[in-house]
Amino acid sequence: MKKIAILGSTGSIGTQTLDVVRNNQDLEVISLVAGSNIEKLEEQIREFHPKVVALWNDKSAQELKQRVKDIPVEVLSGMDGMISCATLSDVKIVVTAVVGMIGILPTVEAIKAGKDIALANKETLVTAGHIIMPLVEKYKVALLPVDSEHSAIFQALNGENNNKISRILLTASGGPFRGKKKKDLENIQLEDALKHPNWSMGRKITIDSSTMVNKGLEVIEAKWLFHVDFEQIEVVIQPQSVIHSMVEFADGGIIAQLGTPDMRLPIQYALYYPERRPLPGDRVDFYQLSQLTFEKPDLETFKGLKLAYQVGKTGGSMPTVYNAANEYAVAKFLKREIKYPEIIEMISCALDAHQYISNPSVQDILEIEQETYRNLQEKWK
Ligand code: NDP
Ligand code: MG
Repeated sequence: MKKIAILGSTGSIGTQTLDVVRNNQDLEVISLVAGSNIEKLEEQIREFHPKVVALWNDKSAQELKQRVKDIPVEVLSGMDGMISCATLSDVKIVVTAVVGMIGILPTVEAIKAGKDIALANKETLVTAGHIIMPLVEKYKVALLPVDSEHSAIFQALNGENNNKISRILLTASGGPFRGKKKKDLENIQLEDALKHPNWSMGRKITIDSSTMVNKGLEVIEAKWLFHVDFEQIEVVIQPQSVIHSMVEFADGGIIAQLGTPDMRLPIQYALYYPERRPLPGDRVDFYQLSQLTFEKPDLETFKGLKLAYQVGKTGGSMPTVYNAANEYAVAKFLKREIKYPEIIEMISCALDAHQYISNPSVQDILEIEQETYRNLQEKWK
């Protein structure tokens, strides 16, 4: 039995991970963590029988405790609860599928406890990659990408041993506003931004995909995971979302990974690496598809992607500010409190106001996150 913990079990990646568990007989859920969704977590407890669960919200945890009195499960809450779930001695691999920088501390503690990490929570690597990567090495754990593009790159590197990557071709669908110009984005409504053409995902990442900030975060994520320079990472728009990413080697040979847009593939691959298990679902039909097309990203309209390269190259505390400002702005946009273009304006404003730090600790990163929120709160009254 492979024993797993899922942080963010009630979300898009979390529920698809549980679907993978359902389809395989040798995965055992030891712990589950969610934010406040009592109903869904209760259902998951009754189906998967974890030993320990945690909810972020203390009141929700108290209510859940009452509801599952008939089951032998421990119910915890808050950051301590989440860390306990991620570090339980039984757990072999932790799926980090919470959304946002809240994932940093539990990921750090899980690595220190010797757990392998199936990483969906890209915000952790974007803001704390300089801390996470050395820890992964020190504690000799595996860091397995769940993000579809990074899983594709990881799969393309199979068997390449010490062959150096010359270029990573990170594919992007282009999102719902591909082909639009800056002035077309002024009056975008929430409903428009939540309509992703190919993938069904959580609300935050769906907005990030529409602004291409998601691709920006993925560029930084790829830099850490695959030890390449930013100059080696090229974003290619691939509107059909069939090529999930590609790697070019010194001889010009390119290896790509293709498939239908189904996150269960990268999730299952991370859980069973290097083994490939059967996975029910649609297959690519090339006759139906008939063509694969490619475009260059428009960095003037999608300035969030351009900014990501800039903050990535500067490094230090800049990616934290970029990410924190985006998290803050997207939360506001989801509540209809700001207009669509203000997401990128807020990121630029936060970056301009920030005093750069070269090698932030986890503590610094979490303080910079709060400082970024405070600054934006004051400026956007
Ligand atoms: P969702 O919004 O669908 O789910 C987020 C999960 O995190 C939920 O279980 C939520 O619980 C939980 N959560 C939120 N806040 C807290 C908190 N403070 N403490 C504990 N748990 C919390 O997100 P996604 O599944 O879409 O994304 C998760 C991560 O994976 C993100 O980092 C995203 O960038 C990444 N990712 C997602 C992809 C996708 O296809 N969805 C693809 C590639 C990467 P509750 O339900 O109770 O709110
Ligand atoms: Mg992705």
